[in-house]
Amino acid sequence: MPELPDVEVFRHRLASATRHRTIDGVTVHDEQVLAATSAARLRRELAGVRLRRTRRRGKTLYGETAGGPHLRLHFGMTGDLREHTADQPEPEHVRVRFRLSGRHELLFVDQRRFGEVGLVADVDADIDDHDLGPDALDLDVAALGAVLGARRGGLKAVLVDQSRIAGLGNIYADEILFQARLDPRMAAADVDRNGVRRLHRQLHRVIDRAVSAQARPEKMPRGWLVHRRVEDAPCPRGNGTIEAFSVGGRRGFWCPACQRASG
Ligand SMILES: [Zn+2]
Repeated sequence: MPELPDVEVFRHRLASATRHRTIDGVTVHDEQVLAATSAARLRRELAGVRLRRTRRRGKTLYGETAGGPHLRLHFGMTGDLREHTADQPEPEHVRVRFRLSGRHELLFVDQRRFGEVGLVADVDADIDDHDLGPDALDLDVAALGAVLGARRGGLKAVLVDQSRIAGLGNIYADEILFQARLDPRMAAADVDRNGVRRLHRQLHRVIDRAVSAQARPEKMPRGWLVHRRVEDAPCPRGNGTIEAFSVGGRRGFWCPACQRASG
């Protein structure tokens, strides 16, 4: 499921593909991914347009035009944004095709079709409408501490709550907590100042490295939990055994030997 690093990679791709190109046309191959717009309107509003700027809040990506409406992309469970040229083989599950000048294309690919392609009049209003909290990368230590301190509930549950912190999901919340050596089940409000500092530092380190790795797990450091998301796997630190646990119906992984409640 695409999380902040994946969507940041898509943002770079959208920005670089559209920097010197206009959108010549839009073809919708599957209307199920359209969110509150029609294929005809998407085509009409975006054909001939040049994107001015890209923005990301959490897992949502926007392509802003000069006068609006603006393009909004959400990637659901299996969404992907790929650059494509006419001479390359076509991937499967292309739902929306953005034709750019110079025979370039951007393809919204989504096997399971929980992703969304839409138009919004105002990006800030859309962020409010979806009740998205601050982006995970925009929180400083004090703000992160305030978010955790204000909430009842488990630490991991707060990290993946998009209305509190936008961008983290199951995989990266687990990784950040493993790197910060914090017990995912502890109460968020009980994380002490030292714990908040570790969490903040590891959040930036994990997200930055994941973006550098193009969000591809096989390019991420060997010592990361992401490679050991199996019950009873040996801990990548050589200290303990990985265990599974559930938060909000999602199965997570952690190392009880390395990860402790702080405070
Ligand atoms: Zn361990």
